[in-house]
Amino acid sequence: MVEWVKTLSRVLYIDLTRKMCWVEDRTDLFEEWLGGIGVATQLYREEVSKEADPLGPENAVIFSVGPLSGLFPMASKTVAAFKSPLDGYFAESHAGGRSASAIRYAGYGAIVIKGASDRPVYLVVESEKTRFRDAGALWGMNSLSAGRVLREVTGGAGFRTIARIGRAGERLVHYACVTTETYRHFGRMGLGAVFGSKNLKALVIIGSGGFKLPNVRAYRETYRNLWELAVRSPVAKKYHDLGTAENVMPLNEIGALPTRNFSSGRFENAEDISGEEFARNVLARRVACSMCPVACIHVAAIREEYEDEKYFFKTEFVSYDYEPIYAVGSNLGICDRFGLLKIFHVLEAEGVDVISTGAVLAWCTEALEKGIISENETIIPLRWGDWKNYIKAIQYISEQANDFYKTAAKGVQALASKYGGRDFAVSFNNVEPAGYHTGPLFISSLIIGFRHSHLDSGAYSMDQKIIMSGGKLPSTSEAARIIREEEAWRQVLNSLVICLFARGLYGKENVVKALNSLDYNLSEDDLTRLAWKIYTTKNKQKIEEGFDPLGIKVPKRLLETPTPLGSINEQYIREVVEKIFDRIK
Ligand code: SF4
Repeated sequence: MVEWVKTLSRVLYIDLTRKMCWVEDRTDLFEEWLGGIGVATQLYREEVSKEADPLGPENAVIFSVGPLSGLFPMASKTVAAFKSPLDGYFAESHAGGRSASAIRYAGYGAIVIKGASDRPVYLVVESEKTRFRDAGALWGMNSLSAGRVLREVTGGAGFRTIARIGRAGERLVHYACVTTETYRHFGRMGLGAVFGSKNLKALVIIGSGGFKLPNVRAYRETYRNLWELAVRSPVAKKYHDLGTAENVMPLNEIGALPTRNFSSGRFENAEDISGEEFARNVLARRVACSMCPVACIHVAAIREEYEDEKYFFKTEFVSYDYEPIYAVGSNLGICDRFGLLKIFHVLEAEGVDVISTGAVLAWCTEALEKGIISENETIIPLRWGDWKNYIKAIQYISEQANDFYKTAAKGVQALASKYGGRDFAVSFNNVEPAGYHTGPLFISSLIIGFRHSHLDSGAYSMDQKIIMSGGKLPSTSEAARIIREEEAWRQVLNSLVICLFARGLYGKENVVKALNSLDYNLSEDDLTRLAWKIYTTKNKQKIEEGFDPLGIKVPKRLLETPTPLGSINEQYIREVVEKIFDRIK
């Protein structure tokens, strides 16, 4: 056995119902499944039954990190596995900040949270103790304020992560998120609602321990090589310079920037909300997750003059990225940067996933325009570009101001099922898509993904490569093969848990070197086998829970709006999905 596994193999179990916690040695899991999503999948299978209600005490939340976490550049992420309230299946979400190093240096490889508390609590986890603390005073507080209070009242500054929910999570908005530190999120699939259902306001983890490395020289050498690659790669430069917002203009140019509820792939005012314009006008600083030399997190400063005090300004710092710019920018017809940043700020405070919220607001706007609903439902008029009313609508969703907003809190599909307007309901099995209307490979990957993120398999970039090379689609067998192989390999990266912006850096050779510097004895073939094992196990789990990929229809709107690769052929997608699943069933 690799000794290093022992530094990861402590799993902390927390039972919120009984207010009990204990530690188990799960060397068995970390030896076989590496860490991250590999281990989280197994723990999920042990803890969550097929019948479990996603918002019942029988659901569990599993956080897991990997052998490179807290040690190598960009091994900065934590996996959260849970049953999603959006689609009712096994799902995962990833976040950075200080989450991975805090868990690792608190001496754990995974944390399992199960049951539900009878009153609001927050947890403070340290290496040798876990405290259940009364969160009565925090309940009802927005995510930004809760974060500020927790920074004051818990120790461990510089070594801790503070993962918490806002009001949306408390009120079980199905797409509520969990925020870590400032500006990083377990965004997709509704982890915030699962926290809320457990009466869990926050999880603070203080990781101030350390490890003895098995081979300091080998570690240093491997670290230095990876660090050099990270800081010198053109991809890292792109993420550092403009951040993911750099994608706005290229996607708009090829006609893949979702605009006004995916009714077009081009936004006439894209330049105003481009990474370039954000950087020129409002960028205040760049920040990084721990262990990351790239610092892709772009933070804008917004200044507002106080109404009654001339020359006095309130300054707020808000992060921006490509996905929020698409979801509540082009897809809502907003080109006012100030308005967009104000929306981001409210989303941060309420604690909701920006992609799902944007899709819900886009559906509401179109439904109102078409007379399917009226202001009796929406309370206020919602019109493309009107950011002030969208801010009010976000607050209505969070507080579920009436029956309509109660339904809106469950997602686009729930709205369309109740009010009609299915033709323009952009949602896959009640999960709203990421912002790339690039072509059929990306749409196929949205059907099969676990995160419903562009990072499930990177198929948006496969579409883009086809566009660049002349636009001829591969056969459905070839499309299935490349999506499947890419997504399978990502299971290893997600078991380590590497930021997927570093996927070019952590090819098989470098992963083997990094693991071997910690005395693992794994070859590239071993990792390939493990990738497929994790990938098939995850998919089998979801299928056992009732997931039927062939039962998921491509939203009609996506079939109507041409992509850069032409109109989507549903039959092509069906065959791709079928062929992916033929191999992994
Ligand atoms: S590239 Fe960005 S998201 Fe990835 S680890 Fe670095 S700061 Fe975090």
